[in-house]
Amino acid sequence: MVRPADEQIWQWLSEVSDPEIPVISVIDLGIVRALRWTDELHCEVTITPTYSGCPAMQVITENIQQVLQSHGVQTVSVKTQLSPAWTTDWMSESGKQKMQAFGIAPPAQQASQIAKIDVSALISHASVDIPCPQCASLNTRLISQFGSTSCKALYRCTDCLEPFDYFKPH
Ligand SMILES: [Zn+2]
Repeated sequence: MVRPADEQIWQWLSEVSDPEIPVISVIDLGIVRALRWTDELHCEVTITPTYSGCPAMQVITENIQQVLQSHGVQTVSVKTQLSPAWTTDWMSESGKQKMQAFGIAPPAQQASQIAKIDVSALISHASVDIPCPQCASLNTRLISQFGSTSCKALYRCTDCLEPFDYFKPH
């Protein structure tokens, strides 16, 4: 087998979806940090979990191995790197659009910008309007700091009345 180009590997990795938000790939999420060939046939993929102890990581590891092996990469290992910590800033623009189409409001701010301005804004989300993913209305209210998972907050749209998850910048 001829070793595929790294660009090809990245392309194949975009077929690996996030178990929690299946319309988004691990590339869209920005969790794939590096590729390395330890020898001609062994590809090592480095990923950074979206949060430490994320239970989806085991599934993601298996899916990465499965997809690359289906394309003929014989040995694939997945290495976890915890530092620097993953941030929503690493998500791609197309990933955010797909998240919105899926019904989850994507992070409306850069986490790095919030940290510079005011740490409390990260907690309160008071400084920015979160558009409703259903009708795009800005008349939305925070219901709970925690939605279906701790990385999301629960909002409700005051116009279409639909509750929705907001993926908090962090
Ligand atoms: Zn709405």
